Amino acid sequence: METRAARRSRGLLAGLLVVLVATAGCFVGGVSDPQEGGEPAPRRSAAAPDPSTTRADGTTSVEEFAQDVADAQAVAERYWAAQFRASGQQFRPVRRIVPYERAGQVSCGGQPLPRNNAVYCSQGDFIAYDVTWSVAAFRQVGDAFVFYLLGHEYAHGIQVRLGIRYDFTIQQELQADCMAGAYLGDSVRDGTLTLGEGDLEEFREGLAAVGDDPDQPWFAEGSHGTAEQRTESFFRGYERSLAACDLG
Ligand SMILES: [Zn+2]
Repeated sequence: METRAARRSRGLLAGLLVVLVATAGCFVGGVSDPQEGGEPAPRRSAAAPDPSTTRADGTTSVEEFAQDVADAQAVAERYWAAQFRASGQQFRPVRRIVPYERAGQVSCGGQPLPRNNAVYCSQGDFIAYDVTWSVAAFRQVGDAFVFYLLGHEYAHGIQVRLGIRYDFTIQQELQADCMAGAYLGDSVRDGTLTLGEGDLEEFREGLAAVGDDPDQPWFAEGSHGTAEQRTESFFRGYERSLAACDLG
């Protein structure tokens, strides 16, 4: 998957962004109360990705990963800025995207973030992700997973901006999946993003990997939805845009 800008200048930007990502890791937020417990790790262990599973687009390097995170962030900011503008509202981008490598390196609400996770922290208004886990998932599932993951966390930031707070985490999570689908589907439709070979299949695989265990009660705190529910929500947003995401 690539952005219009990336097709012009991918080589140039890649080196710059790796440096940015490395320094961003030094920020540790003085924040309180996490909005949610973050995303469960894909159940297939991502610890030792098999290079033979590399996708047709061949994206595996840390530089490509960093570029995709930066691209996904830029596309999300642009997308949500346009949505807010269209409804006459001011838009404030999520303040920071923070990679981390160790458990407890970053905290949200005084709660140390564990390994193998990605989270939107409402108190500090930042997204944090375990970079080792994310790179492994990127290698295993493909670059589309990075765009999905960032889009999902970004959607939590949008929910906070819109004052959306459901009673059950599963509602909050499935809406975020739908919104991630909408930002990607709309960005593909307007030409901001171009899907590579296999990207749609990568979304499916990524969503299947982050589904809850089938025996987890839907109403449990921290429930995100089964693989089927998450896939359905994502593609509903992807195909029908935000109107399908219960944002009215
Ligand atoms: Zn979430």
